[in-house]
Amino acid sequence: MPAHTNTTMPNPNLIQLLDNFDREEILNCMQCGFCLPACPTYRQTGKESASPRGRIALMKGVVDGQLNVDAEFEDNMYLCLGCRACETACPAGVPYGSLLETARDVVERNKKDIGEHSFLRDLLFEEIFPNPDRIDRLGTMLWASQTLGLQKLANKMGLINLLPRPMREMQSAVDQVASPWQRMKRESVIHPEPDASQNLRVGMFKGCIMDVMFFETNQATARVLTKAGCEVVFVEEQACCGALHAHSGEQNGAKELAKRNIEAFEAAGVDLIVNNAGGCGAALKEYHHWFHDDPQWQERAMKFVAKCRDANELAAELFSALEFRGELPGVRITYQDSCHLAHGQGVRAQPRQLLRSIPGVEYVEMMEADRCCGSAGIYNITNFDMSMEVLDEKMENVKSTSAHLVVTSNPGCLLQMRKGIQRAGCEGQMEAVHIMDLLDRVL
Ligand code: SF4
Ligand code: SF4
Repeated sequence: MPAHTNTTMPNPNLIQLLDNFDREEILNCMQCGFCLPACPTYRQTGKESASPRGRIALMKGVVDGQLNVDAEFEDNMYLCLGCRACETACPAGVPYGSLLETARDVVERNKKDIGEHSFLRDLLFEEIFPNPDRIDRLGTMLWASQTLGLQKLANKMGLINLLPRPMREMQSAVDQVASPWQRMKRESVIHPEPDASQNLRVGMFKGCIMDVMFFETNQATARVLTKAGCEVVFVEEQACCGALHAHSGEQNGAKELAKRNIEAFEAAGVDLIVNNAGGCGAALKEYHHWFHDDPQWQERAMKFVAKCRDANELAAELFSALEFRGELPGVRITYQDSCHLAHGQGVRAQPRQLLRSIPGVEYVEMMEADRCCGSAGIYNITNFDMSMEVLDEKMENVKSTSAHLVVTSNPGCLLQMRKGIQRAGCEGQMEAVHIMDLLDRVL
């Protein structure tokens, strides 16, 4: 969320801030350029500064004191989608994602040091995301506006034009959210079916916005897991995973949220912690890296990470316990990888295995299925134009599959795919669906 740094004057605390960079990781980049073809922003712009290699060179320039942490540096860091396709392509194993998080943290802390505050940023990262009650209230407001038809009315009367264009555009991809009563009625423990063979107590990581906007997908995930024999627990004290903070240069805020989650799931005494959002899952599995300078929390984080699973991983692991009761005859399905599930967590085979197993489906592999769709957390709001360029190119691959269903494993990708289907004029022929919702229909 860039709000420009308009100074190039060195900040006295900057030298100390730059120590946050792991210089060895930067130096590991041998500038070979293998990552360039994998990078969506490089492909769109053709600019070295919009490539992983170029961004790492800029970071090196800053660390070596040859470049300032200025508006140009900030723009280049924030144009990155954070999709981590470059990590998969890199033969030297450069952990680009963590370098990017540090670079954005340096940008934001430098701005705070020189007194450049953004009210919107503070509101989002300090008041809203860390506070599940406030997200819940926002969800209720959204539900009320959808139910009373205010959204449609605002569209009709042109009031919607008062919203910034990215929000105006993306709201058309948002489905009706669950009512406050549906949300309140949820049981905190869902027991497995009586004849279940498994004996696992699984903590459901709900996500923050996910649990409001995709409440039914969380419920569907819980049902799939109970059908596989798990007891599913919705741990009340959990918080946002911290990914949005970490990806936006708010590392301290991210760590505070991670501590709350570690404590909450320790107290819940669960065998595993399951989530259905690729982006959240990648963050949860990286908590131990976030505490690399804090041995006590790092140890607790490692135990937490060892229990984390994406819902696809666990469903595939427990596959023999799953019994398909429905079928989708003649339905052609393709799969859009979530970047953070594929590049961040290495989970690629499991969702495909699950989809191919649905009776009656024809599975078609999409070209470059693991190429970013342009959603990237809140990138489609903060960098709308680039996000849509990346999406439109992606939709060419989606369309060429002629699939009836485009299946994803991340809520952001799901919204983006719905937007892409609208932009490509494929509504009525093609539907985007979360894999857990789809499995819930046929299990
Ligand atoms: S994270 Fe994605 S957008 Fe950013 S440099 Fe790597 S490949 Fe390019
Ligand atoms: S990030 Fe990896 S692939 Fe890209 S230039 Fe550096 S070493 Fe090569």
